[in-house]
Amino acid sequence: MSAEEVVKRLRESFKNGKTLPVENRVKQLKALKRMYEENKKEMCDVLAKDLRKSTQEAIVLEIDFLLNDITHTLMNIHEWVKPEYPSKGFINLLDSIYICNDPYGVALVIGAWNYPLQLTMMPVAGAIAAGNCVVLKPSELASASEKFLCETIPKYLDSDVVQVYTGGVKETTELLKQRFDYIFFTGSTTTGKIVHSAANKYLTPVTLELGGKSPVYIDNTVNISTTVRRLLWGKMTNAGQTCVAPDYVLCTKEVEAKILEAAKVIIKEFYGEDVKQSPDFCRIINDRHFDRVVRLLSSGKVALGGDYDAKERYIAPTILTGVSENDPVMQDEIFGPVLPIINVEDVKGAIDFINGREKPLAMYIFSNNSKNVDLILENTSAGGITVNDTVMHLGVDTLPFGGVGMSGMGSYHGKFSFDTFTHKKSVLHKNLGAMGEKLGMARYPPYSNSKIQY
Ligand code: NAD
Repeated sequence: MSAEEVVKRLRESFKNGKTLPVENRVKQLKALKRMYEENKKEMCDVLAKDLRKSTQEAIVLEIDFLLNDITHTLMNIHEWVKPEYPSKGFINLLDSIYICNDPYGVALVIGAWNYPLQLTMMPVAGAIAAGNCVVLKPSELASASEKFLCETIPKYLDSDVVQVYTGGVKETTELLKQRFDYIFFTGSTTTGKIVHSAANKYLTPVTLELGGKSPVYIDNTVNISTTVRRLLWGKMTNAGQTCVAPDYVLCTKEVEAKILEAAKVIIKEFYGEDVKQSPDFCRIINDRHFDRVVRLLSSGKVALGGDYDAKERYIAPTILTGVSENDPVMQDEIFGPVLPIINVEDVKGAIDFINGREKPLAMYIFSNNSKNVDLILENTSAGGITVNDTVMHLGVDTLPFGGVGMSGMGSYHGKFSFDTFTHKKSVLHKNLGAMGEKLGMARYPPYSNSKIQY
């Protein structure tokens, strides 16, 4: 089917009210849940093929992550769909005022390759819960996952409600020419701008889940072993190909020495003597990204790791020191297992450094000094923050997940996914009785100064 035909088919079913009854949405969400439960092994296999993802990372960060989100939605959807009744003033005492939770219509979800199942299907679940029809466009770079979604989704979900459309830049460009009622995009800031421009043609509302350089500040009040374990877990999971991965560390020279010492121990603890042999360490998605990350290894000095193997697209967990802000590694999001450390004098130096760059998707502060924590929280901006850990804020389904500035706009997860795909329609239902009319007479001509305070 062409892009035009796909959208036409979904628009027709939306018009016919197929997705409006909440029971139909529940049925689709349950089917999606079943798809995940019945295909766990296959999903782990395709993720291993695309990224050499370990079964544990696949289950925890891709499969269970979505299952938990759907379970939470199924528990709450009947509440979420109800109209909301805000407070009202004296003038509307005899009227009803409420907010209807309307679906937008036909939504487009474009996914990224780094968590190819979770990042594509979480927004799809939100769009379905809110009563939309959805075209989903998985990333072509995670080709095994793309094939899995393309073949499996039609077996579980109603094709009048969800359609998978595959392809790369050419096909996505064609898709973006169509008129959608909502576009949800996950990917790079560069492509995000292209999607935003395309949406502009029909003033289609968008959520852009983008990337950026997410900083980590570590002071000298922390337990260094726990800090480095949490830091390196966030950085090395999926070989650094995580949108909220710690991108670089800001700390004093003294803290840097302690980080390096602890990192040697933790890397061994995670991956054994030879990281390359560990079944728990992923590979880089393709040669282009592999070459890009290898080029960054020439910034500063390799203090840990630094080896790589093009045949396997393996890059060792690496820490760079002596890095300056003009080095290549500090220009764009790293998206690989390379962690530069930048030295700052103190917390104020860290704040100045962070504020000198684009607002990041995530920020991490490791400190037991609440003054330092508050100072950073009050004086910087980021999509989301975890204090004394990394990445974990995105697993809290009562927190919105999204970026700010160049790291994105809008948010999702849990109720926020439902709200993202919902138009909040304001309704004022007036009373036509004589009493109400009498109360409102002052608005009609003939106008007179006695009717207003002048
Ligand atoms: P990408 O922008 O290259 O691709 C994302 C999607 O856009 C893919 O489906 C791709 O087919 C499509 N696309 C690519 N170029 C296009 C073009 N010119 N026109 C139209 N469509 C196009 O991003 P990626 O490499 O898949 O993902 C990595 C980036 O995504 C990183 O910057 C990362 O930080 C970010 N990311 C963000 C989040 C988040 O939740 N905020 C999650 C994962 C990844």
